[in-house]
Amino acid sequence: MITASPAARLLPTAPDWRELWRASITDAGELLRSVGLEHLAGRLPPADAGFALRVPRGFAARMRPGDASDPLLLQVLPQLAELEQAPGYLIDPVGDLAAREAQGLLHKYEGRALLIASGSCAVNCRYCFRRHFPYGEEMAAAGQWRKALEHLRQDASITELILSGGDPLSLATPKLEELSRGLAGIPHVTRLRIHTRLPVVLPERIDDAFLAWFAALPLQKVVVLHANHANEFDAAVDAACRRLREAGATVLNQSVLLKQINDDADTLVKLSERLFAAGVLPYYLHQLDRVQGAAHFEVDDARALALVEAMRGRLPGYLVPKLVREVGGDASKRPV
Ligand SMILES: *Cc1c(COP(=O)(O)O)cnc(C)c1O
Ligand code: SF4
Repeated sequence: MITASPAARLLPTAPDWRELWRASITDAGELLRSVGLEHLAGRLPPADAGFALRVPRGFAARMRPGDASDPLLLQVLPQLAELEQAPGYLIDPVGDLAAREAQGLLHKYEGRALLIASGSCAVNCRYCFRRHFPYGEEMAAAGQWRKALEHLRQDASITELILSGGDPLSLATPKLEELSRGLAGIPHVTRLRIHTRLPVVLPERIDDAFLAWFAALPLQKVVVLHANHANEFDAAVDAACRRLREAGATVLNQSVLLKQINDDADTLVKLSERLFAAGVLPYYLHQLDRVQGAAHFEVDDARALALVEAMRGRLPGYLVPKLVREVGGDASKRPV
């Protein structure tokens, strides 16, 4: 019998995001079993092809059971193809990873500076340049912030600070508070932008403590999510997006164009529509960084342009992302 004790009347407490993060799947065999594909275990590369598997359970739960070409599974499952050496695919395709690591702050584009706030991510995406630089733990812990804040203070041309990584929301909220306290004395920085995949792969991260901090920031706020397929969204992700907006953020999304995952017009159209249903606008569609081990994800430029043209024919202009590529040394992302 259920008795109405005072405790039973309280709302169930949501699981803490850090616990959920720690409980992520890190074994490829387990991931395959969880989606009913254990018969594929013989096709896994040894030692995860040198880049650990990491998938929050909530993200794995959005994969279609029994489907070896599920678009979420393909983003995170180690493949034998990663072991192939493809010409032109480098360890450091954008050419500034060493610089990123050393300085913590990248000021390459006019008006905007990008802080590598954390080297950690909640998910390991197989196509990411990070596969060769799983950095250390928190970059910020190494006293980098003081140097970064000093640079910001001295350069009044910087009006926007971008928190990136890794994933900056992998930092605990008190760490973010520490950073924003440092920003308080720098009046020319009026915008804070956060590049994060956490609201998509671990939406529990957008908890009350985070929102209290975020909503109170005396800055204009932009959150740029990273989702590549409509199936990455569910009610929990929708709720996280809504709470970010309610806290005063403009919420955008960037995607990477990935072969067999989102390289057809129907999939891209559905993604844009699903983003908008969640209150999110598409921002960039990135051509892949040519990082070693990711060649099997590449979509050539001609096909990429045709896909965006097809989107333009079927969607309002505000739902068509800009197709870009990052080229080392450029003063902005380069339109394809
Ligand atoms: C991508 C990037 C930015 C942001 O560019 P936007 O076009 O403003 O989105 C800023 N700084 C660096 C170093 C970047 O790589
Ligand atoms: S979340 Fe972003 S930075 Fe982290 S592994 Fe995925 S693509 Fe790379």
